[in-house]
Amino acid sequence: MEINLDDYKEVTDRLQVGEYRKIPHHECSRSNVLRVENTLEGFKFYCFKCREYAFGSNYNSPAERLRRTAILREQTKRQADKDYSLPADFSRTISQRGLAWLGRGGWTIDLISKYNIGFSTALNRVILPVVYDSIHRGYTARAVESWQSPKYIELCQHGVMWESINDPTEQPSACVLCEDILSAARCGQFMKAYSMLGTTLNTNQLSILMNYDKILIWLDNDKGGTDGLLKSVPRLRMFSDVKIIESDVDPKLLSNNAIKEVLCL
Ligand SMILES: [Zn+2]
Repeated sequence: MEINLDDYKEVTDRLQVGEYRKIPHHECSRSNVLRVENTLEGFKFYCFKCREYAFGSNYNSPAERLRRTAILREQTKRQADKDYSLPADFSRTISQRGLAWLGRGGWTIDLISKYNIGFSTALNRVILPVVYDSIHRGYTARAVESWQSPKYIELCQHGVMWESINDPTEQPSACVLCEDILSAARCGQFMKAYSMLGTTLNTNQLSILMNYDKILIWLDNDKGGTDGLLKSVPRLRMFSDVKIIESDVDPKLLSNNAIKEVLCL
């Protein structure tokens, strides 16, 4: 027998994430045969009597739509005010889904703590702070659920890059440039690394890179979003030795040994 999700709004509105209740299934039984659970993905319904199953994704729920609108409005305002501070509810306690995402990128607890990675429950996103020249410049907020959109929210001072923290006594002559922060930090364990936080390089970013004698560029070839960057390569070559690494996968998906090998260390 059909489960009409709207019939149970009174129940779902009061159910916290992680909670469930057993209630009657309208038109099926007056006893509590219908199990309703609020999960991060949405509401799951199952009737033990007629064995009907239903799922109401949170993506299109009124609450999620309101949340998306509120987030967008806040981002736009912050961008206009040049307010790049971390979300108000930033916490070092990262949800299981967030930790799983970081883990898939080969991140250890040490890396997570070194780069002050955190979580915003309000945004339901992993927060990756962007620090350049020891100054906080903004953050990238990565969604942890497949139904969340957009996948990345960036609130960052214009023209900066994310940079790895390396031994301050060393004056590196080479660096590696990656697309995303997860990859850059993995490479940053072995040499100075930057994440370009986008697919093109602006003047400011170019001038940072030109300080190095040798620049390795390691982007994910699959995405095809590298054309913009490649246009900048001739300019970089006027000052530095540029090597483009041909690799089918992002550094974040490789083992440390494999990364070292590709970087020729
Ligand atoms: Zn039923």
